[in-house]
Amino acid sequence: MRIGYGWDSHEFKRGIPLRIGGVTLPYPKGLGGHSDGDVLLHAITDALLGAMAGPDIGSLFPPSDPQWKGADSAVFLREALKRVAQAGYAVVNLDSTLILLAPKIGPHAAAIRASVCALMDLSPDCVGIKAKTPEGMGTDNAAIAHVAVLLEKVQKKAPARRKTAK
Ligand code: MG
Repeated sequence: MRIGYGWDSHEFKRGIPLRIGGVTLPYPKGLGGHSDGDVLLHAITDALLGAMAGPDIGSLFPPSDPQWKGADSAVFLREALKRVAQAGYAVVNLDSTLILLAPKIGPHAAAIRASVCALMDLSPDCVGIKAKTPEGMGTDNAAIAHVAVLLEKVQKKAPARRKTAK
């Protein structure tokens, strides 16, 4: 078993789409960043990479590289999942906490969970989506995501037994 932890934050900016967990939420402001600013997918990606003791998201997909400008963050997540599979692991479950003043995540939590499940091939009971407001933190113009993931080694199929001659 391996555990991974990821954290990310992005600042709200007016006039760009708000992407969280691969879902576009109705809101006049989105999260700025070099990619689509999907704070949750970035934290999940870093949690997976961290569980593999691998390079972090910023090392694999540097913001200075123009090819990631406006990129769909699902690309980053897929690369992390590929590395997990190549190392012989599978995701058991993940839990997340979003911290943002607005919009309220509750009405969108099911859609976000469904999107993350589809991207990661997980069932809904393996993906925690929680949200809190940043009371007293002074981060009202930002969205923050914390993510923990658990991985397990994939069991290799036992070789077929040779039939013994009678
Ligand atoms: Mg980020």
